[in-house]
Parts: sequence; structure tokens; C-alpha cells
Amino acid sequence: MTISPEREAALLASVPTGLLIDGEWRDASDGGTFDVHDPATGKVIATLASATSEDAKAALDAADAAQAEWARTPARVRSDILRRAFDLINERAEDFALLMTLEMGKPLAEARGEVAYGNEFLRWFSEEAVRDYGRYLTTPEGKNKILVQNKPVGPCLLITPWNFPLAMATRKVGPAIAAGCTMVLKPAKLTPLTSQLFAAVLLEAGLPAGVLNVVSGKSASSISGPIMKDSRLRKVSFTGSTPVGRQLLKDAADNVLRTSMELGGNAPFLVFEDADLDKAVEGAMAAKMRNMGEACTAANRFLVQDTVAEEFTRKFAEAMRGLKPGRGTEDSTTVGPLIDGGARDDVHQLVTAAISAGAEAVCGGEPIDGDGYFYAPTVLGNVPNDAAILGEEIFGPVAPVTTFKTEEEAIALANASEYGLASYLFTQDYARMFRVAEQIEFGMVGFNAGVISNAAAPFGGVKQSGLGREGGAEGIAEYSTVQYIGIADPYAK
Ligand code: NAP
Repeated sequence: MTISPEREAALLASVPTGLLIDGEWRDASDGGTFDVHDPATGKVIATLASATSEDAKAALDAADAAQAEWARTPARVRSDILRRAFDLINERAEDFALLMTLEMGKPLAEARGEVAYGNEFLRWFSEEAVRDYGRYLTTPEGKNKILVQNKPVGPCLLITPWNFPLAMATRKVGPAIAAGCTMVLKPAKLTPLTSQLFAAVLLEAGLPAGVLNVVSGKSASSISGPIMKDSRLRKVSFTGSTPVGRQLLKDAADNVLRTSMELGGNAPFLVFEDADLDKAVEGAMAAKMRNMGEACTAANRFLVQDTVAEEFTRKFAEAMRGLKPGRGTEDSTTVGPLIDGGARDDVHQLVTAAISAGAEAVCGGEPIDGDGYFYAPTVLGNVPNDAAILGEEIFGPVAPVTTFKTEEEAIALANASEYGLASYLFTQDYARMFRVAEQIEFGMVGFNAGVISNAAAPFGGVKQSGLGREGGAEGIAEYSTVQYIGIADPYAK
């Protein structure tokens, strides 16, 4: 059912607009604010307090003050808070989905999918919180004892991007709570509303004051800069673009901060001639069009064996032509707008450069006129291997297709990127799957699957796609530090 304007207004009015510092929603210290827009209309939908450097410091003060007691809080208590928050988000799933559609543009059906996926990190880490085992052993010499325990890293700065407003926050906040860390969360200024509602839910679930502080604002560096120079901060976990991640790694070096970096991707989507082509097209649609192509895991380069390239491209373009762009709140919409005008211009520039270099627009290839920042779902055929569009993150609904002849060539083309986050492989040959997976330099491989993100799996990349993993058994380790206690031989006289 299409959403009424009254329902949208009531939901937006229920979202806190202040900074969350020490359990209280406050105005910015200088009274400053910033606007949040609906990318489907370009209209302002909310105005939030804009944190200053002083506010950021106050948030770290609160996180630091809460750290010692939070670290001593029993794991079961932390686990129960996460579990209650999971239940509350499930109860309010429609609110979270609509809010993401309003601020980010994704169709409601996809936003509902993100609520289910993002919320799962809370349930997963509520379960992990009570199974954070250390170990005890005797030294190889047979005398002294070794005791190893995990401790929370300490106050963390969590910086999230705009493309998955709930999941990018839960993927960090969940394990930080489970491990016993306090936090300063800085959401993206384009989509901060979901984090505001998420923080309100955590308070309702019983999270003590100061454990999570949320400081959105119009100037990211004036929020993160002063905190990262403060020796009370122990970790920065960032999800966003590689250039910003690189800068934050440099900044983190001064205080030798622990870092987790979930950065950009340039996912290859390999289709071999023995693949089930209809399943490959289905996978391609999911890997390319989830989130309008605005995902770090989005298939960015379709590498198709030359013998099946024509058939794959034709079927793929047919499926793309069947999509219906529109505002995400409309029932019929299957693809939303891009996040803003600049993002749309960047996508179009890559497309026009590829066409000038010899590519052919099999479908789409143009922005869509009217309100909002819509771009036509596009398939580009015969893309030359040196085209810029194959080297850069497209972050839009554009699928460049190029060809290979042999498995070796496919692997070489896939690896010819500075990025190494997600990759996709379509073949019915399991031996090939193992051969390619072993040689491909990517943190994640989708085998006959176009979407592989899951709270129980370690998400992350190699090369310039980042450091560390989120989710899975690895996720909590990013927020834990190991302490070794060496114990003298208890038999010694
Ligand atoms: P971005 O421009 O790098 O911004 C990400 C976050 O960093 C935002 O909160 C942003 O704040 C903040 N930021 C920007 N400049 C900063 C600075 N100098 N110091 C401190 N913080 C700063 O990326 P984005 O456009 O939001 O997101 C898209 C990118 O994220 C893509 O490259 C995508 O691949 C990547 N991504 C990676 C993953 C992954 O798990 N690997 C997941 C999702 C997205 P403002 O909003 O205020 O600018």
C-alpha cells in the first residue's frame, strides 16, 4: 500500500533531532543545525542539530566516563539489551523501513530487507556476547600457566556511510556493545535519521547513559578530528570511501588507534560458459541493482566468457528494462533515485566516457528527467578493458559488460583492481569454483549467489578495500583486546 503524507509526517516527527550525549538529547553547543533531504523529491524532510568539535569532545567525555562500569557489566546484561533492541526494532520494522526510504531513497521492499539484515547483527551479537571465550593452558615447558582473557578495547569512534543507514550502524554498535565498549557514533550527514531512531530504541532497551553517544553534523572532520587526537579514544571503525579511510588511517597513526576499515569495492561478476545463464542474470540483477547499485558489494564489472556474452547481455538488458524507477514509497517502484545530484552526475560521466571509448548502451544510459535524482537502469556492452568505468566504483544502476576467453584471463581481469571486497562467480563446475576462489584476491566470493551479506559471516575486504571484518565470529574480536596473564608454576617450592 502506498504511504500517505500523514504517515510520513508522523514518523518524521517521532525521530529525535538532537545530539545524544550522556543519555540526553541536546542542541548543538552553537545552536547549529543541518537539513536532511528526500532524494526522490529533493525536498527537506528534517532538520537536526549539527555537532561542533566541542560537542564531539563532550560525547567522548561521556563515553570515557561510562567505559569502566560498562566493561564490568555482566555479558548477560549486555546481551539482553541487544536482544531487547532486536525485538523492539522488529516491532517497529515498518517505521525503520519507511525512514530509510525517506532519507535514502531505496524502495520500501528493499528497506524492509535491510531492517531484517541489519537487525540480525543485534541478535547475532547478543548471542556472541556471552560466548567471548579466553583460554588457560600450561606452558610447553610444563611449569608456568598461561591465562588469556578478552577485554573491551575501550571508547570507540564509529563512522558510517549513507547507503545502508541501519545495517552499517548495527554492524558496529552490536559488537561494540557485546564486547563492552562505549561509543561515539557519527552517522553520514545525508542519512542520519535512522541512527537517531536506532539510538532511541537502544535507550528504550536499557542501554545505560554514555555508552552510545550520537553526533551527526555538517562537518565530519570537525567531529572526528579532535576526538582522534584525544588519547582517551582507543579505536576508530570506519565504513566509507577508500580516500577518506586512507586519511583516517593516517590520523589514527598518531595515537596508534585500533582501526577497522570497510572501504570501497570494485566487484567482478564472472560468468563462465557452463553457468546457468538465467540464474546468472537473476544473480546479476541482485548484485547490481540492490540499493540502486549504491553498495560497496555492487557488481561493478561483468566479465562474461565470450561464447555466452551476447545471450547474457541480451537477457540482462531485458531484466533491467523491466524495472520501474520511482519514489520508494510507491508500491510499483522497483528502483529508487541516487542519493544526490552530484552522485548522478558522476555516474553519467562514467557512462558517457565509456560510450566515447567504444561501449554500446544496450539499455538506459541517461538520467531520468523530473524531480529527484533518478538514473535509467543501464547495461553497457562491448566495454573496452581499459575503460575508466571498469576501474572505478560506479555507485549507480549501471552494468558494464566485457568478455574473456579463458579461466586464467578471467582471474587476471578480476584481480586487476586496487580493490578486493566482494566478487561473484557463476559456474556449475565446483572444481572451478575452488580454483577461482583460491586465486581471486577478494575478501568475499559469491558462488552462484548475487547477495551474500549475512550477520553470521565475516564481511570485509583485502587490498584497498580495507582492514578487519564485521559480523561472524570475527566481528566481536574487532572490539576486544587480548590480555595475557603469566602465572608462576603453582608446584614450585
Ligand atoms: P564517505 O564520503 O567516505 O563518507 C563515509 C562517512 O565518513 C560519512 O559519515 C562521512 O561524513 C564521513 N567522512 C567524510 N569525510 C570525512 C573526514 N575527512 N573525516 C572523518 N569522517 C569523514 O563515503 P560515503 O559516500 O558515505 O559512502 C560510500 C562509500 O562507502 C563507497 O566507497 C562504498 O564502497 C563504501 N562502503 C563500504 C562498505 C564496506 O563495508 N566495505 C559498506 C558501505 C559503503 P559526511 O556524511 O558528513 O560526509
